[in-house]
Amino acid sequence: MEEKHAWLSHYPKEIPVSISYDEKTLHSYLEETAVNQPHREALHFMGKDMTYREVYHEALKLSSQLKKLGVVKGDRVAIMLANSPQAVICYYGALMTGAIVVQTNPLYVERELEHQMNDSQAKVMICLDLVYPRVRAVRSRTSLEHVLVTSIKDYLPFPKKNLYPLVQRKNAALAKQIEYDSTTHRLKKIMAEGKPEKPDISFNPKEDIALLQYTGGTTGPAKGVMLTHYNLVVNTMQSSAWMYNIDRKKETIMAALPFFHVYGMTTVMNISIMHGAKMIIVPRFEPVPILKAIQKHKVTVFPGAPTMYVGLINEPTINKYDLSSIEACLSGSAPLPLEVQQTFEKLTGGKLVEGYGLTETSPVAISTPIWGKRKEGSIGIPWPDTEAAIYDPETEGPAPAGKIGEIMLKGPQVMKGYWNRPEDTAAVFHGNWFLTGDMGYMDDEGYFYIVDRKKDMIIAGGFNIYPREIEEVLYEHEAIKEAAVIGVPDPYRGETVKAFLVFKDGKSASDEEMEAFCREHLASFKVPRQFERREELPKTIIGKVLRRVLVEEEEKNTKAK
Ligand code: AMP
Repeated sequence: MEEKHAWLSHYPKEIPVSISYDEKTLHSYLEETAVNQPHREALHFMGKDMTYREVYHEALKLSSQLKKLGVVKGDRVAIMLANSPQAVICYYGALMTGAIVVQTNPLYVERELEHQMNDSQAKVMICLDLVYPRVRAVRSRTSLEHVLVTSIKDYLPFPKKNLYPLVQRKNAALAKQIEYDSTTHRLKKIMAEGKPEKPDISFNPKEDIALLQYTGGTTGPAKGVMLTHYNLVVNTMQSSAWMYNIDRKKETIMAALPFFHVYGMTTVMNISIMHGAKMIIVPRFEPVPILKAIQKHKVTVFPGAPTMYVGLINEPTINKYDLSSIEACLSGSAPLPLEVQQTFEKLTGGKLVEGYGLTETSPVAISTPIWGKRKEGSIGIPWPDTEAAIYDPETEGPAPAGKIGEIMLKGPQVMKGYWNRPEDTAAVFHGNWFLTGDMGYMDDEGYFYIVDRKKDMIIAGGFNIYPREIEEVLYEHEAIKEAAVIGVPDPYRGETVKAFLVFKDGKSASDEEMEAFCREHLASFKVPRQFERREELPKTIIGKVLRRVLVEEEEKNTKAK
């Protein structure tokens, strides 16, 4: 890359500006560790440990069985699993067959599931017994030929395996209703009958798609982002280069982010397998169990979403735990308030870096430097081999520093395109530049700042207002735990600002106090005119606040009045 970019002068000397990337498949890393260090622990889940050799053998068995079921290179295999050993095994096993993995959110309702299966034309689905009723309801209207069903207990150690149905009675009852036949299989049985044979398939990592990752469900029908093996290997290697301080020999990664989201998949699962690290897999995010697990397993890396770090630092018992093993954490998917970052770093002694990216960029493209200069409110500087700029509609090229516009990105982690949607693909590319839909600016040192999503902008009385700026101010109030801001219809201004507030335990403030606080820090046209208190805010599974849900609720309430 040319030396013209201002951000390059902020790279710590340990981070290469450009990397020579492996042209390998993602699953080749699992094989390498399994062969070179077979007894190394790959994962821990609810009392069960599995070595690299065990995970690799299970993945090989699945791969040979998928082949028997007729899966050939390029076929789509959907995986609808919560974080568990089988989520790792099935992902890597499907890749070994040459299949394209379609990650399916286990919370999808039937409509979303049917759309995704038909859009991707998936041939096989691997799902949890708990979600199977939804799969059964739609499968006759999809191209699914086989469904493989697994239970959480399949990979639990004795006696947890036997206790599971007693503790999870409802789940066990649901599982009992499944009728297995020639197209509905028990994963456990499939694995027991499988042979750990290495498939003989050739790959072109730069061209072959590893993953269809669905996105855009909040704005229209979800589209499948095509990510190649190379895209995913690149982003994992970029991430390793950026987090250069981590001691790889004792790398232990907290797997709290869901693997079915690109962020957890790359920064937790793929990176762990590439480094031969150990994953501590937890079924869901809950502050106390996470703190206990960090202490017990001496977790060194914990990628998460801002809401997770907010949850941890607000946990009253946090000081009881020894968190000194933490070396580095990566926060992504939503803005990380500076105060949260600093408190977390103080409490653990580790570094918390903020990353920015999208499904379309595998996902990370920009982040704050781990040691170099950090700036308040900035998402940082582009990763190695990555270029970022602001699109200037006047010149149709990069805008000068300081100008607000749409952020665009270029780099080897940028997707191949949207699956079967050439028009949608063309709409987000401007030459080689990928247009992100995020509004932001770059300062004269090459640091980037997000202003907001293009579509979340509020226009009040002709002024453009970005909710994020107001939310940041609200977060600075000592009583506020969480805040979200949306635009609501206003007869005079077109739209006006409404804030949804969650107060910290035992704290509160009146609307007048909140308004006065905002007035101190914001121009008057940005000050929220309406406040609503909530116990919690609607969030995605990854912890991103769903402003869209708040907008929909608001519309419904207005109609009902
Ligand atoms: P997804 O494709 O689901 O990963 O969502 C990508 C979107 O998440 C981006 O377009 C941004 O709007 C948002 N996002 C990701 N990281 C950050 C961040 N660090 N700060 C603010 N927004 C972010």
